[in-house]
Amino acid sequence: MTQAKAYAAQSATDPLGPYSFERRDLRPHDVQIEIFYCGVCHSDLHTVRGEWGPASYPCVPGHEIVGRVTAVGEHVKKFKAGDLAGVGCLVDSCRECHNCQQGLEQYCENGATFTYNSPDRLDGSNTLGGYSNTIVTDESFVLRVSEKLALEAVAPLLCAGITTYSPLRYWKVGAGHKVAILGLGGLGHMAVKFAVSFGAEVTMLSTSPSKEADAKRLGAHKFALTKKPEQLTDLANYFDFIIDTVSAEHDYNMYLNMLNTNGVMICVGAPPTAAQIPASNLISQRRSIVGSLIGGLPETQEMLDYCAEHGITSDVEVIAIKDINEAYERMLKGDVRYRFVIDMATL
Ligand code: NAP
Ligand code: ZN
Ligand code: ZN
Repeated sequence: MTQAKAYAAQSATDPLGPYSFERRDLRPHDVQIEIFYCGVCHSDLHTVRGEWGPASYPCVPGHEIVGRVTAVGEHVKKFKAGDLAGVGCLVDSCRECHNCQQGLEQYCENGATFTYNSPDRLDGSNTLGGYSNTIVTDESFVLRVSEKLALEAVAPLLCAGITTYSPLRYWKVGAGHKVAILGLGGLGHMAVKFAVSFGAEVTMLSTSPSKEADAKRLGAHKFALTKKPEQLTDLANYFDFIIDTVSAEHDYNMYLNMLNTNGVMICVGAPPTAAQIPASNLISQRRSIVGSLIGGLPETQEMLDYCAEHGITSDVEVIAIKDINEAYERMLKGDVRYRFVIDMATL
């Protein structure tokens, strides 16, 4: 076993603080990674505060992990010590069901094993995530990371990147489409970059006037403030797609009305409260509302390779781990440009 240093929450109401525990001995297919950086996702906050239901404590969040391989199990083929590597939201799945066989491990019919707050499939222990200096993961769930890009800016691709890349690819969003991105945070800024890269006309819908210049710099063609509905009348029946990344309660109907005939609202943001949507809002223009969960392992690798080829990374603010609780409060206020990433050397 390896002694690991980490930050953990001990309950839904405690701030995160220093914690140590043991990472398991390497199984034959395991890879051990020294973690250099871990991104801070709003899902970390939802989970540790019990907003999606009770979590298991101590809870070590973090699923945007990059670092270097330090050791490999006897049967590992894909990695060797010294390789750069990444781990996202998944660390295991049944590998046998229809979805796993198709590389859609996130939709494993027997329940995927998530990087934190999930029971390990073999020993039942609670998985502990990337706010830590080391992690041990089966090689099938470890991603190859290019040496070409800045590592701290690659970390958020492991969740914010794949969560926005996957639905844009699945719904074949590209040239000729008008796309709105709702919410300019971690997911939102990656959605802008990918939708622009795929050739769509991109409009940023935001509650923050101060983010307009950034939205344009990220590549958005238009910007509209959602707090001023009078500015939005020309957007009625306008979009082919809306990618909703909002983390808190909001009015879905206001945005559904911006979808043109056959328009699709793709929900990736996961607010803790349920939405009220009258069927008439969908019926009137044959609109649909759909959801999408991260991405499977093959598509996550495809996304990382696409980013390396096209020079796409996340815009990050690197923080020391002692500042994680303050970072959560800033994230709640929408004050993040556009992803906090923890430098694990500060642990
Ligand atoms: P984030 O960085 O905090 O960004 C969320 C953005 O939503 C904010 O920056 C803000 O943008 C906007 N917003 C916040 N409160 C709002 C409100 N009340 N009304 C309207 N807009 C509001 O969060 P994130 O890490 O991108 O995550 C976003 C959501 O996606 C979270 O719920 C997270 O759990 C979920 N998520 C889902 C998946 C998946 O697989 N589906 C994966 C990762 C994360 P503006 O300032 O521009 O308004
Ligand atoms: Zn995430
Ligand atoms: Zn499965």
